[in-house]
Amino acid sequence: MATIISGKALAAEVKSRVARDVEELRSQGVTPCLTVILVGDDPASRVYVNGKEKDCIECGIASRVLRLPAETTQDELLAHVRACNEDASVHGLLVQLPLPAHIDERAVIEAIAPEKDVDGFTPVNVGRLVIGEKCFAPCTPAGCMEMLRAAGVELTGKRAVVIGRSNIVGKPMALLLTAANTTVTVCHSRTKDLAAVCREADVLVAAIGRPRFVTADMVKPGAVVIDVGINRLETGKLCGDVDFDAVSEIASAITPVPGGVGLMTRAMLLVNTIEAARRTLA
Ligand code: NAD
Repeated sequence: MATIISGKALAAEVKSRVARDVEELRSQGVTPCLTVILVGDDPASRVYVNGKEKDCIECGIASRVLRLPAETTQDELLAHVRACNEDASVHGLLVQLPLPAHIDERAVIEAIAPEKDVDGFTPVNVGRLVIGEKCFAPCTPAGCMEMLRAAGVELTGKRAVVIGRSNIVGKPMALLLTAANTTVTVCHSRTKDLAAVCREADVLVAAIGRPRFVTADMVKPGAVVIDVGINRLETGKLCGDVDFDAVSEIASAITPVPGGVGLMTRAMLLVNTIEAARRTLA
């Protein structure tokens, strides 16, 4: 039976570390501040943004949420982003995605100052991640790495397989695993013999968006399985991309959904915000 890598326990640890860091920064005259810009009233986005606000408050980080109407124009949104870039009291800045269809997401992300880009989505931070420079790594893959570290998984020389090649999860995950000395294969919807490739993995990361897609026959006995997927079933229950019950019989360690990577994603946003605030002291 696999060990369960609990996002709940680890996120709580990370948050108490963040709260201590906030105290230290405050004693140096800096109150870390995260500003989130939310455009429109997408229900899922609203829930995510409320969660971010709650996390900040819990750790003593100042939280500002700029709630803008769905009709906000791209120019208006860009003006808000630039104002936050210039506001020295804002350390971390993110624009909640997705944006309404009339706004060019890339243009907005590119307008965020890289030193405030705590989501790690700007081309500057992505580029720095590629070349192995200090950067803000995207929160979800950074959270997965933290889970692997906390579980004591030895990565050097191991085979890692990432299913999914999105800019926010799959690609940066592959970069972080490469930096941690694993040999990485990235799979996607056009991959042939996906199950056979997955069976080679010592570390298997699923970031697909299909409920229980990774079945036991795709997992090597003893592998570590990280489930990034968050899928809502017709029953309203959440489930991951991995068939948890069957795969946990085979894997050596596995992350649950809910209570896994999602909580670490939230925690890493706080870590990045602290880092952004700390850099202003340097
Ligand atoms: P995405 O839709 O941008 O990317 C999905 C990827 O899966 C694509 O690269 C695609 O090629 C691949 N894929 C799709 N069907 C496939 C198939 N049949 N075989 C192999 N590969 C296939 O999604 P995303 O933004 O990367 O998110 C992936 C999942 O992770 C979603 O369930 C999302 O909700 C979840 N997610 C969770 C967190 C978190 O905090 N836990 C954060 C972001 C995303």
